[in-house]
This record gives sequence, structure tokens and C-alpha cells, in this order.
Amino acid sequence: MATVETVQGPVEAGELGTVLIHEHVRARDEAVAENWPTEYDPEEELNLALEQVNNAKGHGVQTIVDPTAMFLGRDVRFMERVADQTGVRIVPCTGVYTYDYLPHYFENRDEDAMADLFVADIERGCQGTGIKAAFLKCAADEPGITPNVEKVHRAIARASVRTGAPIMAHSRPAKNTGPDQIAIFEEEGVDLARVQIAHTGDTDDLDYIERVLNKGVFIGLDRYGLTMFLPTDKRNATVLALLERGHADRMMISQDHCATIDWFPEEGEQMLLEGGMVQEDWSMTLIFETVLPYLRENGMTDDHLQTIFVDNPRRWLAGE
Ligand SMILES: [Zn+2]
Repeated sequence: MATVETVQGPVEAGELGTVLIHEHVRARDEAVAENWPTEYDPEEELNLALEQVNNAKGHGVQTIVDPTAMFLGRDVRFMERVADQTGVRIVPCTGVYTYDYLPHYFENRDEDAMADLFVADIERGCQGTGIKAAFLKCAADEPGITPNVEKVHRAIARASVRTGAPIMAHSRPAKNTGPDQIAIFEEEGVDLARVQIAHTGDTDDLDYIERVLNKGVFIGLDRYGLTMFLPTDKRNATVLALLERGHADRMMISQDHCATIDWFPEEGEQMLLEGGMVQEDWSMTLIFETVLPYLRENGMTDDHLQTIFVDNPRRWLAGE
């Protein structure tokens, strides 16, 4: 069987076990963190990451896929510390998390030069380490497919074609980005069976979701707890409807939780909570505590769980 790269080295795909397909052990802007390091507390960041990952482990999670790419503060050494201290595998990525902005470095270089860097991360290792990226990450959000976003998508696609690595594409259903992102991958000759359209679960528009699914990609129903995009009851209804329509073999469920994130001052985080934009119990274990018990009472079977949390992550990551 194929192997999958983790921050602790390659593992047999069959050993991945129960997988959370989209969580961040730390999210921050690397440029701010590099320039004003004293604004961050590394020990606190590590402790909060360990707490979340250990809690997930307590629910049987053996592997966490962490799509923290450039501009979200990718740090494979930090991920490695979390994996070492929890015994939970972490699967790292390469790519660029941008909704439009690109540094001059990439403005003045073409898609293939960008792809060369991604390929190097996959074949040789990330950030000067021997830790190899297991998948490719790109994003399209509110601005849609701008020229810069398209450039990143084409570079990601070419790196996937060159290496066989799978792609996770952050999407914005409200802007209909999923089909546009898939169209670029198709044009570049990507194997769509190795593409995951993340955040598809931010909509309960089943027509939109089936339009995405009909292309043969995986979908992420991966933002449980982020009520600002869709509240939990609507996420649940969508999952149950998709199961009923027989789509279990293309669905993956997660929380897009960030053990720490530097986007908001403390008052900002409080406002998100008070404004009901984030659920109070948003965490790497929310789905195990309340969501899965509800879904199981309403039609989700053991087979569905095996498919969604074990088989689909393995098939997306390893192709088998
Ligand atoms: Zn994310």
C-alpha cells in the first residue's frame, strides 16, 4: 500500500486510522510573528495545541490533517513537536493561503516557478527540514478567482500533476468558487479523485453541493462550530441529506479549529463569541461531543463513520 507523509515521516496509508481532515494546531501571520515575536507566547501556543490534540486523541483520533500553508504561519517543526508530544500524527501541506495578495516574489515569477517550490516541499522537505508535504493547499474566497488566485491554483495543479500529491482547495460556496476551482484543475489535467473542495459544508444548497460532487471530488463538511458561515443545525441537516442521497464516499467532516489564531485581539474573540459567530464549544472535539451523537440518532451508521473518518481521508491522501 502507498505511504503518506507526516511530520514524523511516512506511514502506511492503512495505518492512518481515524482522521480529522481539517484542523490547525496554530494559525498566525508569519510576517507579523517574525517581526514582532514578543506579541506571541510560544509556550502558551504549544500548550493550547497539545490540549486540543490530546482531547481529540481521547476520542480516538489518530491522525490530524493540518492545512496550515504560507500566510497562515506554516511551521512544520511546531507541528512535529505537537505530534511528538501527543502521539497523534500530523499531516502537513505546501501551498499558499491567499484570497488575492501575492508577494512581489511570486508576482514576478510564473506558475511553474511557484510549482517548483511546491514540488521541492513534496519531494525533498519543507522549510529546510526533511519533513515532506503530503498535499497541496490553495484558496479562493470572497474576491473569487482573481488573476493571483488563478495563478496559485494553476501552480498547485501543476505540482499535483508532477508529483501525484492530492489537493485541498479552500472554497467559498457563497461565491460559487467550487466549480470555478475545479474547472482550473480540470484544465491542468489534475486527477479530480484526489481533489478536496474544503468548506463545501458552508452552504446547505444541495444543488450546489451536488454540482461539485458530480465532478468526482471529495468535499469538506469541515467547519462545525463556525456558525458565522452556517449554523450547526443546518450543517447537520445537510450531512444527513447527503448521506441519504448516497454521497458518503465523498464526504469528510471536521471543525477547521485553530488551537490558537492571531487574527483578533482578545476583545475581538469575545465579540465573535457574543455575536454567535463562533460556537462556544468550537474545538477539535465538538463533533465527537454533540454532532456525531445527533447524526447517529438520525441515520448515520457505523459504516458511514468508517467511510467518512477512515476510508475517505486515506483514499484522498493515498489514492487507494
Ligand atoms: Zn482551515
